Amino acid sequence: MNKSKRVMRRAILSKLFDSLEEQGTIFHPRESFLNGDLSIREIDALLAFKSNAQLEELRHALDRLENGTYGICISCKSSISQDVLDADPAQRICSSCEQRLLHPVHRPDYFHVTSRV
Ligand SMILES: [Zn+2]
Repeated sequence: MNKSKRVMRRAILSKLFDSLEEQGTIFHPRESFLNGDLSIREIDALLAFKSNAQLEELRHALDRLENGTYGICISCKSSISQDVLDADPAQRICSSCEQRLLHPVHRPDYFHVTSRV
């Protein structure tokens, strides 16, 4: 991550706002929300009673930004590239771990065969 904490907080809040707006549960002006006019407690109040995985991810990303673990891969502890964070500001694993976990090198042979069909 090479963008500042402030820029990344804005990116996270922007996604959070979009999600809340989609659900029709936010009536706050977008700019003021993105500027951080709501405290983390107020944001928690907005998120209360919602069980939405994406909202949870974004909320946790704000916590990681505060405690200094944001942008660090939870698997290998190396830093996550800015491109990955720009695409998904709530991302918790780096691209090489994602590759390793989602596309293991030692795939069974039948996978190669069937995937070519
Ligand atoms: Zn990693």
